[in-house]
Amino acid sequence: MANEQLLNDFMAKVIARNPNEAEFHQAVEEVAMTVLPFIEENPKYKAAKVLERMTEPERVILFRVPWVDDKGEIQINKGYRIEMNSAIGPYKGGLRFHPTVNLGILKFLAFEQVLKNSLTTLPMGGGKGGSDFDPKGKSDAEVMRFTQSFMSELFRHIGPNTDVPAGDIGVGGREIGFMFGQYKRLRNEFTGVLTGKGIEWGGSLIRPEATGYGQVYFAEEMLKTRGDSLKGKICTVSGSGNVAQYATEKVTELGGKVVTLSDSAGFIYDPEGVDAEKLAFVMYLKNEKRGRIKEYAEKYGCEYHEGQRPWGIKCDVALPSATQNEVNEEEAKTLIANGCFVVSEGANMPSTPDAINVYIENKILYGPAKAANAGGVAVSGLEMSQNSMRYGWSREEVDTKLRNIMIDIHDNCVKYGTEKDGYINHMVGANIAGFVKVADAMLAQGIV
Ligand code: GLU
Repeated sequence: MANEQLLNDFMAKVIARNPNEAEFHQAVEEVAMTVLPFIEENPKYKAAKVLERMTEPERVILFRVPWVDDKGEIQINKGYRIEMNSAIGPYKGGLRFHPTVNLGILKFLAFEQVLKNSLTTLPMGGGKGGSDFDPKGKSDAEVMRFTQSFMSELFRHIGPNTDVPAGDIGVGGREIGFMFGQYKRLRNEFTGVLTGKGIEWGGSLIRPEATGYGQVYFAEEMLKTRGDSLKGKICTVSGSGNVAQYATEKVTELGGKVVTLSDSAGFIYDPEGVDAEKLAFVMYLKNEKRGRIKEYAEKYGCEYHEGQRPWGIKCDVALPSATQNEVNEEEAKTLIANGCFVVSEGANMPSTPDAINVYIENKILYGPAKAANAGGVAVSGLEMSQNSMRYGWSREEVDTKLRNIMIDIHDNCVKYGTEKDGYINHMVGANIAGFVKVADAMLAQGIV
């Protein structure tokens, strides 16, 4: 961990340059804390101010997104794209549509994305974007009008060799489809400019599954280091969107049991487990009907806890898969007091810094988001490769590649994160491994 003075000096500058961006400060501090000592030992990075440059986006695009709602009223949203770092490949990262979206949140996500993409072993730089548009309660026609307006500005900044957006919270297959259609119309070209596309029009098999599957493969790799596996493990999952759904599917396939799911209104507790049939209902409920998770409890007669998160439920493995800062210090302590010894993060930055301290002090298996949830963007990278080749791999081929990438990421965490007593600090490992590749590329490319 970093010498306190060094870290404080570094963070004071980051905070002064980026005021009022708490989540960005949080994401940078976690990395700086672990990477600064490494930089001290490797002065070439220090002299070239690599970390200072990495914390300044290469480009920030901010734009107006006007659209007309179903009542004929004009609505105005903000549109953003943060092009954070292109040292190892075109900017790559999702778009988030959520009312909480602001510059600080997207900069934290873009910064994380740079290191995450580096960990995947694929040639992708990092970016992130989105809007404060709230898709909840909007008709398909409204979502289409909004996304077309959004793309009418974004199209001039992106391209298959420049910047390749994808989904994130609030952006799934429907939104990617509408944006792809509008991009194609404006540019008059059919290219792999977005990932997460439908399988009939350039998408990759396993892309929808990839983040959740990868998160569970990562948990399995961490468990292996202790001669254990997911078989028979009780897992709490938060969220009920794309990541949570496929994490649940994979846990069940590997012999574990998922007992919770949640949304912004509350969580369900199903001690019998969310089996394949119940999961099919969750997918219908969330992806088609766009309803609330409470309806699961009504249908299957299990407990529903309004306005709460699932971390008070006894489990072996916790899979936070909803959003940032969804596990705090108290909740982390409760998890551990109840016997939880694995946390594998599917959401981006779901644990607060205090919660992470609790995991690490207790030496549990902690898979930080930029390693554990990298499977999603990794398969996006594979989608880009398939688009370039104008060819598609089979399910088995993509799944095997995904699994091998997650194993490689885990190996890199072991390489850079094993402490003197043998404890594998996956957070330290992921941060340093992710940093080194980008930093070396930046050194080679000069002061840019
Ligand atoms: N939004 C996802 C992430 O946080 C996926 C990004 C992508 O596929 O480009 O990594």
